[in-house]
Amino acid sequence: EDNNKQPPLPSPLRFSKFFQPNMRILITGGAGFIGSHLVDRLMENEKNEVIVADNYFTGSKDNIKHWIGHPRFELIRHDVTETLLVEVDRIYHLACPASPIYYKYNPVKTIKTNVIGTLNMLGLAKRVGARILLTSTSEVYGDPLVHPQPETYWGNVNPNGVRSCYDEGKRVAETLMFDYHRQHGIEIRVARIFNTYGPRMNIDDGRVVSNFIAQAIRGESLTVQSPGSQTRSFCYVSDLVDGLIRLMEGSDTGPINLGNPGEFTVLELAETVKELINPAVEIKTVDNTPDDPKQRKPDITKAKEVLGWEPKFALRDGLPLMEEDFRQRLGVPKAK
Ligand code: NAD
Ligand code: UDP
Ligand code: UDP
Repeated sequence: EDNNKQPPLPSPLRFSKFFQPNMRILITGGAGFIGSHLVDRLMENEKNEVIVADNYFTGSKDNIKHWIGHPRFELIRHDVTETLLVEVDRIYHLACPASPIYYKYNPVKTIKTNVIGTLNMLGLAKRVGARILLTSTSEVYGDPLVHPQPETYWGNVNPNGVRSCYDEGKRVAETLMFDYHRQHGIEIRVARIFNTYGPRMNIDDGRVVSNFIAQAIRGESLTVQSPGSQTRSFCYVSDLVDGLIRLMEGSDTGPINLGNPGEFTVLELAETVKELINPAVEIKTVDNTPDDPKQRKPDITKAKEVLGWEPKFALRDGLPLMEEDFRQRLGVPKAK
């Protein structure tokens, strides 16, 4: 019917010099939670060739196994603290553990990943003329004294606490991004991501949404770290990925907040999970960790204006989608 449609190229030619993808995209940390969803979205476009570089510290091949062997997909076991030589047009630089229990496990390595890893990816971007996006974090605002947090807020961060390897690491990564931009003219994009949740989160990741959902499904008590009145704002992963791609392909360097402005106390989150997933479980209070931010909520005015972006999924819409994925992986189907 469609006479203009080209027959597919014979396979030996597809990746010869006769086949040029429109966009070669590197995703560091692409085997992780957010990265693997980004891979899925970018692979949907037939013009894209996607390369993932990951050392599998917190990520897993399982998250991207459906692409292994695909002619437009490549997976490299690589630690970003080492030099990487590839030829690409875009770099989504996500590599870095994101959950407090993992980034505190080897804090010096977390700093190296943020600082040397980002330096290497910027060196790569400089050599090949690629545009690079850094996934920074709302943690750059520390325990914020301004609420909600706009991008213009400089933050309230402890420089030598147990979270500093991550918070200050990301702050240096942002500095490197802007210095390579100013000094070498590198095209940069900086996203400040707020708490994100969804399918494929590590079941033992330790973050609050994954903990509560796994606990509710297993029939264990939900562990609210005291006092429980601290707040977070939770963004569903597909909304976040949409924002990252808009930022990359838009014209603003950022930093731009990407998050869902719906704000909940941790206790409210526990009550919501209990109500939706397992009303029989108890909610218990346990000790908290040092420097836990008391409140966090993104001001997304800039993302709305510059990217035309805002989240579509409310917490109550996203939690059941994550529940389904966790039930499958835990092998506990929902009781009728
Ligand atoms: P994740 O831990 O699931 O993914 C991180 C990935 O990076 C993993 O696959 C891990 O193996 C890989 N990695 C870690 N160190 C590496 C190294 N040295 N070399 C190569 N690969 C390495 O976490 P995520 O939630 O998908 O987070 C992705 C990015 O988004 C991170 O940069 C994180 O700081 C940022 N972020 C996430 C959130 C969130 O709520 N999920 C919030 C703010 C910022
Ligand atoms: N780098 C890399 N891949 C490249 C180019 C550079 O990993 O394709 C790394 C390189 O190892 C270096 C870092 O990026 O340590 C910074 O590179 P840049 O050229 O900016 O600085 P220099 O090498 O001059 O210190
Ligand atoms: N939290 C909790 N119970 C848990 C895990 C976390 O109450 O089992 C709390 C934690 O104290 C923090 C919030 O939930 O106030 C978010 O923690 P998380 O580790 O998910 O992310 P953070 O925003 O701190 O990086």
